[in-house]
Amino acid sequence: MNLSEPISSLPRTSSVTIKKFQSLEINTYLDLINYFPFRYEDYSIVSKINRLQPGETVTVEGVISQSKYQITRTGLKIQVFKLDDGTGEIELGFYNQPYLLRLLKKGMNISAAGIIEQYGKKLSIKPKEYEVNGKRVHTARIIPIYPEKKGLSSRTIREKMMFIESFPEEIFPEKIILFNNLMGEPTAYQQIHFPDSLESEKKARERLAFDELFTIQLSSRLVKKEWEKEKVTNKFILTGKNEKLINKFIESLPFKLTKAQHRVWKEISSDLKKDNPMNRFLQGEVGSGKTVVAALTCYLAYLNGYRSLLMAPTEILATQHYQTLVKLFKKFPVKIGLQTGSQKINGNDIVVGTHALVSKKFKLEKVGLVIVDEQHRFGVAQRAELKNKGITPHLLSMTATPIPRTVALTLYGELDLSIIDEMPPGRKRVKTFYVSKEKRQAGYQWMRSEILNHQSQIFIVCPLIEESEIETMKSVKAAKAEYENLKKIFPDFKIGLLHGKIKGKEKNKIMEDFNNRKTDILVATPVVEVGVDIPNATIMLIEGAERFGLAQLHQLRGRVGRGDKQSYCFLFSETDSLPVIERLRFFSQTSDGNKLAEEDLKIRGPGDIYGMKQHGFIELKIASFGDYALIDKTKKAVGYFDSHFSITNYRLLKKKVDNYQKGIVARD
Ligand code: ADP
Ligand code: MG
Repeated sequence: MNLSEPISSLPRTSSVTIKKFQSLEINTYLDLINYFPFRYEDYSIVSKINRLQPGETVTVEGVISQSKYQITRTGLKIQVFKLDDGTGEIELGFYNQPYLLRLLKKGMNISAAGIIEQYGKKLSIKPKEYEVNGKRVHTARIIPIYPEKKGLSSRTIREKMMFIESFPEEIFPEKIILFNNLMGEPTAYQQIHFPDSLESEKKARERLAFDELFTIQLSSRLVKKEWEKEKVTNKFILTGKNEKLINKFIESLPFKLTKAQHRVWKEISSDLKKDNPMNRFLQGEVGSGKTVVAALTCYLAYLNGYRSLLMAPTEILATQHYQTLVKLFKKFPVKIGLQTGSQKINGNDIVVGTHALVSKKFKLEKVGLVIVDEQHRFGVAQRAELKNKGITPHLLSMTATPIPRTVALTLYGELDLSIIDEMPPGRKRVKTFYVSKEKRQAGYQWMRSEILNHQSQIFIVCPLIEESEIETMKSVKAAKAEYENLKKIFPDFKIGLLHGKIKGKEKNKIMEDFNNRKTDILVATPVVEVGVDIPNATIMLIEGAERFGLAQLHQLRGRVGRGDKQSYCFLFSETDSLPVIERLRFFSQTSDGNKLAEEDLKIRGPGDIYGMKQHGFIELKIASFGDYALIDKTKKAVGYFDSHFSITNYRLLKKKVDNYQKGIVARD
């Protein structure tokens, strides 16, 4: 059996099922076995009927000796079968599945798993799983439970998984396996799906998580080594006249740089003095002052005779950057240009544009510095692109998305990390409150008086219906319903509605109306949050707040508190769950995005940080960013591997690394 075979060669599988697999990006057998269960049910004890004890979870196997149809006193329809295994009889009861009477006939061999119940002297079982003819796929073993998406049931996935008979070969040298006490690769793939024991499942999971973290980090390390071989045309000089001019620029700023900005500038400028290119990742909250650091960096490039490119994810942001830079360099001879789809302003010392700047046929002469704002996977792909065009500039990527340090170090190991962990002085904290269902009306009352007395403007973000990058009809519907509902609550105020299905022109009009205070309240779906910048809005109300991750709530909260007025954020939630309420309370007391991201990681445990995918991060399949011990272990293993072995001798590992890099590039 070849694992690269297409999923369509699965035996006895309908084309509908195959399509469902394909919609989950499962195209080959290899993809299939890389679809991992997230939990298991243990039905491995097979018991004789005369030995059964009420309360135990077991599998029973026998022959159907009787079948009947009953209606309970409460009107429930049940299908009852008697199962005989030679030692005794037990009743199998199914609710509301009349077709079973046709399917399971007298004399058939049945295997059923579930909890044993006792009524009087009679033992019975309501099977959680059953199967016929002595097969042991769904019973008589520890069975895997898969994420059920696109209408694929765990039962189907399990059946198809059974067809796979060969597993990937070992990818590591024996030394790595022995030192880290790893389960072998093929065994791990077999055991993650159909484990012999729960201990064995744990070892399998650890092995595959090890592979995942190892691959990511090895990839970064190899990329970094490649980059380190590159040379910039000329080192930047930051002494003498240049130093004086830089200091003059800093003095010209309308504010004093924070300690964190100073530190980060030092880190950046020491990179720029070297003769290999900078690859730095600058992280800092919204409003922490990354732009001025970027401006300083561009200015140093300018002083050394080089042009800079500054790229933003949207036209709006590019225009904002352009305006900021024009102000900052007003008294300096630096010429600033803007290049977006709709606007072209000449100026070629610093050129601001969208991410398309690099890929378009834009002339890239004398570019010594490229700065990328808010794109997380900048690096591998764009570097390659620039290299194709024959330039090797310094690179700086900036982000305001809070990413826990471990995550940044794992995912961006090829980049050096700088963090602005301090806000400029005098910023007002956005006052944040959790609002329970009992307080909802009072909350509305308060907002009403804020609008009346202070001309406040309010964002109302609808609950997250589906975690999807694309806005679905379902969430648009929910937003419309919320909008109608609010019109009843605030009949005397002007309310706007914004969602992704509204077209460009109309959307602009809605934003303009809100910006010009023609509307008091703007109702929006969660996905339109990005890029919305209305300094007048001082209140952010988030509906169904419990559905958002902390990092996402933080992003939403960042939409207010941009002017000098005190701003507020309300978390509306109908939940009664104490841990959830606690989480929302924690959020109301914490304004540090990184702390929130770390907490998200702790709460969500294995898997991912909420909203990471939307923001362009890769998703881990099996490892967890919260597993610091394994991150550390794999990091050491990567170091050892790289200094003792050559990846070219490990074909399968190389393939894994290549595939990972292709994945990154595809996302860029
Ligand atoms: P971001 O990190 O989100 O890109 P910006 O660079 O846009 O943040 O800065 C946000 C605001 O803070 C801007 O108006 C900027 O002028 C101001 N700012 C930046 N640094 C300081 C500072 N050290 N002191 C006071 N205000 C500052
Ligand atoms: Mg910014």
